[in-house]
Amino acid sequence: MSLFLRLSRTVILAAGAALLSACSLFGPSTPAMKLYVFQCGDILTKDVSIFSPGVNVGQRKQLTNSCYLIQHPKGNLIWDTGLNDAIGTKGVDAFDGKFHLSVSKPLAPQLAEIGIKPEDIQYLGISHFHADHTGNANLFSNATLLIQQEEFDAAFGPEPQKYGFAPETYSKFNRKNAQVLQGDLDLFGDGRVVIKKAVGHTPGHQMLFLDMPKSGPIVLSGDLYHFTSNRQHRRVPSFNFNKQQTLDSMEFMEQFTAAKHAQFWIQHDLEQNQDIRHSPEFYK
Ligand SMILES: [Zn+2]
Repeated sequence: MSLFLRLSRTVILAAGAALLSACSLFGPSTPAMKLYVFQCGDILTKDVSIFSPGVNVGQRKQLTNSCYLIQHPKGNLIWDTGLNDAIGTKGVDAFDGKFHLSVSKPLAPQLAEIGIKPEDIQYLGISHFHADHTGNANLFSNATLLIQQEEFDAAFGPEPQKYGFAPETYSKFNRKNAQVLQGDLDLFGDGRVVIKKAVGHTPGHQMLFLDMPKSGPIVLSGDLYHFTSNRQHRRVPSFNFNKQQTLDSMEFMEQFTAAKHAQFWIQHDLEQNQDIRHSPEFYK
């Protein structure tokens, strides 16, 4: 082989190696960020004024229940786990018959449909520990639970029921798997997935800010509001842990949302969710 051929072969090999490493940095082998939305139960309230004291007393209202999967190059996060899959389509009454809860689309098969197993989930973020958000938490008992200190103390303390929590829904959870937070958390350090502390609905209620590369900023608002008219009027449900804290969180999160020009998704709002793409479709 001539010197020229050997040199050109070396150059081609080096160029090929450089291209390969560039591909691994920027190319198709880097997993893209994705957001999946799941329907995680149906909630019929027989008196909507539970959420809006003194307003629409005795009126029924159908709510949905949402949970989410965020795929990031550095890990998978489940945000809320819905009502327990075992409740099924027949459903159960709750809160002295004021609510009827049912699950027409269980979460586990929705994850399987997009090729995700519970053990693929590294992080579990729960907006708060009411049973319509912790229902399937036991599926993810090996994940790192991201929870505010106040919520941790209430959920794993001596009297979780006092806060309206259902400890059987997270009984398999090893509290040593919890990353206890003292405020906001930028989970992957790039500003794309940020937990925002917004207390009041429960002692350590939190929300999730997402900065999606293509779809832009989105706030997953937990139970700061349950439907749009409560957001418009900033009404505080009768069963909230602390009314003033809730009002302060509403003010602060509205300012944050406006500053970020973010979409604001209300997790229980049936009408708003009809315009949101659900899994197996996703947002990028
Ligand atoms: Zn809820």
